[in-house]
Amino acid sequence: MPDFKRILLAVDFSRDSDFIGARAIELAQACGARLVLLHVVVDLKSQWYKRILLSSLSDDVEEQLIDDARKRLEALTQNLGVSDATCVVEVGSPKAGVLKAVEEHDIDLIVVGSHGVGGVDAMLGSTADSILHRSPIDVFVVRLPGRGVAQE
Ligand code: AMP
Repeated sequence: MPDFKRILLAVDFSRDSDFIGARAIELAQACGARLVLLHVVVDLKSQWYKRILLSSLSDDVEEQLIDDARKRLEALTQNLGVSDATCVVEVGSPKAGVLKAVEEHDIDLIVVGSHGVGGVDAMLGSTADSILHRSPIDVFVVRLPGRGVAQE
């Protein structure tokens, strides 16, 4: 087992978050690593057409989403029994948020689910796929039961 010191668990609060979290905890315990839980609040105004549609969206709404995400991450640490884990909220695209957190928190392993809230029945969800393509460090992808298994 490689000597991972800081493991990043990326969660989108889909129903599988507890399952993915349990795997991350097993890994962290096996190598004595610290856990960092991350949620990325998707920046709704980052694309021009959404900016027009959402022009009335106030900055308060974004603040509210960040605050809500922080509370949900803290609740997840309680559920998973890892109340000493660090909780981080980023704003932007999930891929950019994960890569930023990797750098800022000196992470050496990323744990993601094979599929999240938006997952279609492909082999991998688009967030998991983009993180795998761009990550400078190892990525552990938790296979979710019954999702995206290739047929012979
Ligand atoms: P997806 O590829 O979007 O189906 O999601 C796959 C996995 O990427 C999820 O199970 C999470 O581990 C991670 N993920 C997706 N969206 C986010 C997000 N907004 N913040 C943090 N992690 C995310």
